[in-house]
Amino acid sequence: MVHRTARVALRVTAGQRRRCFGLLRSAGDVWACVLEVNAWRRRRHDAPLAGYQELCRELSASGAGTFAELDSTGARSVLRRFSDAWFAAAKQRRAGDASARFPRRRRGLVPVRWYHGTFTLDGHRVRIPTARGTTALWVRLARQVPYPVEQVRSITLLCEGGRLFLDVTAEVPVAVYPPGEGPDPARVAGVDIGIIHPYAVAGPGGQALLVSGRAIRAEHRMHLADTKARHRAVARRAPKPGQRGSRRWRRYRARARAVEGRHRRRVRQAQHEAARAVVGWAVEQRVGVLHVGDPRGVLDLPAGRRHNLRLRQWQIGRLLQILTDKATLAGITVHLVDERGTSSTCPTCRQRIPKPRGRTLTCPHCQFTGHRDLVAAASIATRIPGGGRTTPTAIVLPGMVTHRRAGRHLPGAGRSRPDPRRPPGGVRVKMARCGPPHRPVGSRSPNKRGSTTPHRRPGERQWTQH
Ligand SMILES: [Zn+2]
Repeated sequence: MVHRTARVALRVTAGQRRRCFGLLRSAGDVWACVLEVNAWRRRRHDAPLAGYQELCRELSASGAGTFAELDSTGARSVLRRFSDAWFAAAKQRRAGDASARFPRRRRGLVPVRWYHGTFTLDGHRVRIPTARGTTALWVRLARQVPYPVEQVRSITLLCEGGRLFLDVTAEVPVAVYPPGEGPDPARVAGVDIGIIHPYAVAGPGGQALLVSGRAIRAEHRMHLADTKARHRAVARRAPKPGQRGSRRWRRYRARARAVEGRHRRRVRQAQHEAARAVVGWAVEQRVGVLHVGDPRGVLDLPAGRRHNLRLRQWQIGRLLQILTDKATLAGITVHLVDERGTSSTCPTCRQRIPKPRGRTLTCPHCQFTGHRDLVAAASIATRIPGGGRTTPTAIVLPGMVTHRRAGRHLPGAGRSRPDPRRPPGGVRVKMARCGPPHRPVGSRSPNKRGSTTPHRRPGERQWTQH
């Protein structure tokens, strides 16, 4: 059995929304109280109050009804969150990581968790527990919870980008297969995690899978351009430090948060689709072990200049995590292996190749040609977990390649759903960030970078046609 969490949006009326946010704010108050108590104790040079039991005693001493509609189990979940964060930081500090911080920051809204038995799940509806004496809080879910009700262990109410969500955690059994049809531990596939192809997989018998992430990259790019354009449009109205923002400014901020949240959800959804394609393919191929090249060494490089943003957007840790989670659920083992040199060594003559610019890898020594990511995945498959860079077994080069695209639902990825951030009418235009438009010498440029354009409305997109 493994624990898995699904995030489900809530459909709430104005009144329900007010009550839900009331719960989150009350949880923020609980959090603030714990910080306050510990601040006093620190001033008196007392030991901090961090144990869950001690904190619970303190809470019950404060009496019922202190935290509005938040019930005691909900309040205790905040104490649990604090206690876990505190001890995690303490452990890291003991291990010598001085950058680990104890929880010291107040937060307006803190997620609240309730365990099995305190809430009621009924199809598309859920009853969120509230303090005794208050009316029951039933809210509608945007979709069915993807787990059977009896497997659900806890629910967590949270707010992301101004929207309410419920994280539903369930205990899910690992997949069981009929004898002779399950994943075979002797069948190993190599996985190369990358930018253009989130997953390139090379399996036994020359079978391979290539998951394209171009839609995800386009989403990143469109979002970045859109955010920049919005920011440029409203920068003049931004409140000075210490100044209170206008109502109009606050509305703009709320909109920006909503857009940011949607962007993150879209990318995450596409990454999950990509990982699901890999695991589905692996089950089909009866692959029992996935060797994943660990590219996190790349991220340990001193903060680089050129690839900084790209690497951050790459979100490699998450791609690894998602794949591991789904593979475990399907009964497939994941091992991390050293991936150094896999994309710069020729698989046939084992000589170093200068890093190719495109996707095709061509060896100048033996004229070998292949797909760069798939070749890397094929040599990752032969690496031993924990072992060095030796490649003892022969590399099986991919012959049959299956192609999958991640993020097919994303706007702009298909013809049926155009991206509203792109100008309408299918006109090929480039974005303003490409620099000032090429104009004949002498003509006035109304939209030159750095100049202020007084007629621009907030959020208005700035596209320059070349
Ligand atoms: Zn070669």
